[in-house]
Amino acid sequence: MTTFTYTANPARVVFGTGTVAAVGDEVQRLGASRVLLLSSRPPRQAASAVREALGPLLAWEFDGAAVHTPVEVTERALRVLREHDADCLVAVGGGSTTGLAKALAVRTSLPQVILPTTYAGSEVTPVLGETENGRKTTRASPEILPETVIYDVEFTLGLPTALSVCSAVNALAHAVEALYSPQANPVVDGMALDAIFRIARALPRVAADPVDRDARSDLMQGAWLAGTCLGTVGMGLHHKLCHTLGGALDLPHAETHTVLLPHAMAYNAPAVPAAMNRVAAALGVTGAPSGVFDLVSRVGGPTSLQQLGVGEQDIPRLARLATETPYPNPRELTVAGIAELLRNAWNGLRPSYGTCTTLPPPTTWHRT
Ligand code: NAD
Repeated sequence: MTTFTYTANPARVVFGTGTVAAVGDEVQRLGASRVLLLSSRPPRQAASAVREALGPLLAWEFDGAAVHTPVEVTERALRVLREHDADCLVAVGGGSTTGLAKALAVRTSLPQVILPTTYAGSEVTPVLGETENGRKTTRASPEILPETVIYDVEFTLGLPTALSVCSAVNALAHAVEALYSPQANPVVDGMALDAIFRIARALPRVAADPVDRDARSDLMQGAWLAGTCLGTVGMGLHHKLCHTLGGALDLPHAETHTVLLPHAMAYNAPAVPAAMNRVAAALGVTGAPSGVFDLVSRVGGPTSLQQLGVGEQDIPRLARLATETPYPNPRELTVAGIAELLRNAWNGLRPSYGTCTTLPPPTTWHRT
C-alpha cells in the first residue's frame, strides 16, 4: 500500500483544432473586456489568428516576449498594460511568451488565457523563472498559474521539426521525472505514462510529416499532461542539471533537455528500476534510457553536448556546480558521478543501462 498526498492545480483547458475561436468567450467568462495580447515573432500566423478572434476585446498587443523572461522586458510590458488599462492577459507562443504573461500576472493579479505553440508545458504550472542582471530566479505562487489554457493543434503545424523534437523531449522529461518524484502519486503517474506513450508514438510521425494533425494532437495532449506533472510534483536530477547548464553556459532550453534526458535517466535508473520499467513499457522498448536515446536519434534530435557548443574543459566545473546545492533525487549525487554523466552526454554515447526485470511493466494505463 502507498501513502500519498495529492493537490490538483485548478485549470480550465479547451483542446482541439480551431479552438482559437473560443478565445473571446474565454476572456468574457473571466469577466474581462480589455485584453493585452502577448506574442513573439515567430509564430506570426498564430498571433494574427488570436488578434482576429479577439476582435474588439483587444486593447493592445505587446510582441516583445523574450527567452528566460528578462525583468526589463516585463517592466516595459507592464507600462504598456497600464497605459492601455488592460484587464486580462492573453498569450500566444512558447514557454517564453507564457513566462511573460505569468510575470505580469504575479505583479497585477490579472487573469491569463494562454494559447501554447510549443510543448514546454509552462501554461499549466504555477512556476515562474525570471532573469535579472544575468541571474535566473524561480518562484511559485497561485497567481502565477494561468486560469485558462486553449490548446489549438493548428498552431503547432508550423513548428519546425527540429524545434518540435526538442520541445517534445522537454515534455517527455517532465513525465519521466514525475514517476520517481518524492511526491509521486497514482494520479500523476497515470498522466505521466499517458504522456510518454503519446509522445513516443507521435514524434516519429511528426518528424516524417510535420502537418500530421493526429500526431500533432498526441504531442499537444502529451505536453499538457506532462506539464501538469511538472506543475504538481517536484523534479529531480535531470531538471536541475538542465537548469545548471542552461544558466552557466546560456544553452538553449529544449535542446539541453533533449541531450541530457537519456543520461540523467541512466544515472538514476539503478535507484528506481520500477519507474524505469514503466517508462520502458510506455515507450514500447526494453530499456528506458537507451529507448529515449534511440527515439531522439531516430527523429534527428541533438544527442551530444558537443553539438550544443559545450567545451569538454567545462565538465569538471559543471559537475561541481550541479552538486553544490542538495535536492531530492533517487540516487545520491556525487561530483565524480555527475562528471561521468556529463562526459557521456558530451560524447553522445548511447546509455548502456538495460532492462530491469524486478517488477512487471504496467498494462492498465494504455488509452488511445
Ligand atoms: P520559446 O518560447 O523560447 O520558443 C522557442 C522558439 O520557437 C522561439 O524563437 C519562438 O519564437 C519559436 N516558436 C514558438 N512557437 C512556434 C511555432 N508554433 N512555430 C514557429 N516558431 C515557434 O521556447 P520554449 O521551449 O517553448 O520555452 C522555453 C522557456 O520556457 C524557457 O525560458 C523555460 O525556462 C520556460 N519554461 C518554463 C516552465 C515553467 O513551468 N515555468 C516550463 C517549461 C519551460
